[in-house]
Amino acid sequence: MNTQSANQITHWCSSCNSHFPLHQVRHCIPVSTSPHGEEEVLQCPTCGSYHIEELQEVADAQ
Ligand SMILES: [Zn+2]
Repeated sequence: MNTQSANQITHWCSSCNSHFPLHQVRHCIPVSTSPHGEEEVLQCPTCGSYHIEELQEVADAQ
């Protein structure tokens, strides 16, 4: 059973070194070439950078 919180910190901005939950960095933008008419992008809400890294295997740290 996986009960993941929506506010779990899963993404990291390599530009300003900030951590965010997914919903803060995920944005939908309209893209005419996409089959869905829009596309998901990851953008830092602080500095506007697109250099967002997904954090994995953070549980075992420390
Ligand atoms: Zn940033």
